[in-house]
Amino acid sequence: MSRREQMLSEIGVKPLWRLRDAQQDEFRETPREVRLAAEPEAFVAPPVPRHANEAPAPVAPSHSVPSLPDAPKEAAPAQPIRAPADSPVMQMGWDALRKAVADCQNCGLCKARKQAVLGVGDEAADWLFVGEGPGAEEDERGEPFVGQAGKLLDAMLASIGLARGRNVYIANAVKCRPPGNRTPEAHEIAACHPFLERQIELIRPRLIVALGRPAAQTLLEREVKIGAARGQTFDRRGIPVIVTYHPAYLLRNLEDKAKAWQDLCFALDQMQERSGS
Ligand code: SF4
Repeated sequence: MSRREQMLSEIGVKPLWRLRDAQQDEFRETPREVRLAAEPEAFVAPPVPRHANEAPAPVAPSHSVPSLPDAPKEAAPAQPIRAPADSPVMQMGWDALRKAVADCQNCGLCKARKQAVLGVGDEAADWLFVGEGPGAEEDERGEPFVGQAGKLLDAMLASIGLARGRNVYIANAVKCRPPGNRTPEAHEIAACHPFLERQIELIRPRLIVALGRPAAQTLLEREVKIGAARGQTFDRRGIPVIVTYHPAYLLRNLEDKAKAWQDLCFALDQMQERSGS
């Protein structure tokens, strides 16, 4: 049985994977009904498992850059500024980057932050997950995705056999908390983009997963609708990018967790294809 088939079996009506315990290497199983009642933040897969003859999600060739439908006019696209290769940020190592981000006052988000949140994880990871920006708990603790959305992201990672910090790096499009957890504005994303760009250069991931529209637009430097972009592989200067929903969105839209899980399976397939396994 393939790894995917195993996941489909486990996440369907049969007992489900649950969040990996930080102290254990083994997954634990809990009946789905119990999870739904006790762990609403858990990454619950569709009630009916996918099977071999189900129509697959549309997949573009990995080297292609599909055109996307226009987004509504009111949704201003992120307009990241590509940092010149010889800019100071693009010369930085991790220590210099950490200090630069911690001291940064390049946009107004520095005013209300408790601390900037660069990212967390394996600095040579194959997998890079990029979200939107820190929330209140992240601002407090200095680590991305540590609130309810973070718990869900951890469960999402576990659903495809990944774990925070193990061949995975997690970052955000902006490093400082937008007040009231609002969506970061285009000029804020642009101001912060060189830091993300340098992170990507240093990590050199084999695959990037964009969590939500702001992250996707930042990485792809174009208008993106998540619904239209799912199931495709985009190219970001030689690195494949997969798009899915932000965990915070999934906490409000439980019905879309199944789609996010499909996206992660697709991402895993893409990674395995590139690994030749
Ligand atoms: Fe600097 Fe980015 Fe923080 Fe703005 S969000 S102050 S650009 S680190």
